[in-house]
Amino acid sequence: MSELILTLRQPAQIGDRARDDFVLGTQEYVPGTVVRGAFAGAWLARNGVPVPGTPGRGEFLRLFEGGVRFGPLLRPGTEFLPLSVVTHKYQEEETCAEVEYDRALTGEAPLRCPDCGSPLEQVKTLRGTRPPVRRRTSVSIGESSVARRGVLFTRETLDAGQEFRGTLVAADPGSLAILAGLGPIRIGGRRTTHGLADIGIRDGAGGSPLPAAQRRDDGQLVIRLGSPGVFTDPQGRPSQDPDPAELTEVLGTPAQVVHRWTRWQQAGGWHVASGLPKPAELAVVPGSTYVISTERTVADAALDQLGRRGLGLRRHEGFGDLAPPPDLKPGLRATQHEARRLRELMDAVAPLRGLPVRFPDRWPPLLAAITAHADGDPAATSRLRRIAEAPPDPGTGAALRKFLEFSPHDAAYAAGELARQ
Ligand SMILES: [Zn+2]
Repeated sequence: MSELILTLRQPAQIGDRARDDFVLGTQEYVPGTVVRGAFAGAWLARNGVPVPGTPGRGEFLRLFEGGVRFGPLLRPGTEFLPLSVVTHKYQEEETCAEVEYDRALTGEAPLRCPDCGSPLEQVKTLRGTRPPVRRRTSVSIGESSVARRGVLFTRETLDAGQEFRGTLVAADPGSLAILAGLGPIRIGGRRTTHGLADIGIRDGAGGSPLPAAQRRDDGQLVIRLGSPGVFTDPQGRPSQDPDPAELTEVLGTPAQVVHRWTRWQQAGGWHVASGLPKPAELAVVPGSTYVISTERTVADAALDQLGRRGLGLRRHEGFGDLAPPPDLKPGLRATQHEARRLRELMDAVAPLRGLPVRFPDRWPPLLAAITAHADGDPAATSRLRRIAEAPPDPGTGAALRKFLEFSPHDAAYAAGELARQ
């Protein structure tokens, strides 16, 4: 898995369909279909239409007809909330035990918050800081290039300078080098004056893994879509659910959807070689969520494979990506649980708190090593290990060994607390 980072050099209008109200809208993220179309456009502009039987043709097919999957690009800090999640319609209060429920994990959720009485409802769009969108209204131009009297239309654009991130999955790493060499690319509409964007591709080694299915405690799987999904039933008709035969094949055991939260949308797309729009077909929206029951436990390798592969049809066109579990807003219950957990962390390293008084000379370098370890400095980790083996007293040794077991997040918290005293 690799990360694609796209930075707009010019304002962009990202492929929304023209609406009846004379507003040409923009989406606030870059769908995988748009990413693929932009790269293919850059390839064609550089190499021309590939001739059958030539190496260029082979490269084009490898990049755009199966060898690479283009995920959606989102602004950092935004996410499609799964349709299974309900949240407070009105501002929650500090005493609300839960703010959000993910019904894919908890089963049913109440209709109203039992603590403050606010209705609980689905989030309809992207969550997070919305990008600044500019709206410009002008006179509509008719087919003969003459302004149509009295007809105004509005065009929305995303401002230049914004950054979007997402994933690329390539069967052959060489494909990513070729894609990286195609930048800058042009995304969205009005490509002569809009949509110029710089791209960077970062190898995912050591980065976050691809989103995969989540295991529930009862062994069932939760699958959330991060891009639209195109599914058909055995007769080839549009379906809201992944095909059980496909699930069974990928997961390696008989599997079926037992619960779903979905909504339909039209999925267009571009035939990249001809530059013509594809006929729209029915897809389910990003955020669609399924609970899957399987006959046997699914191997970790099969879950990884599902994340790399995606689900449904037209996967190499930007459909069928999986999404990670949502970042739910913590309610009082989660806040109290986390506060208790952090208190227990600090109890475990309590002997370190006495050191500034008992060993005033040794404390500053030790605190420096603790802070550097929390920042991921391996030399500091080795230094702490040596001190833990020959500590000034047994309590300090035990506390340091505990600290070295903390996750990076917890180590950073504990280091901050120790530095504050
Ligand atoms: Zn409430």
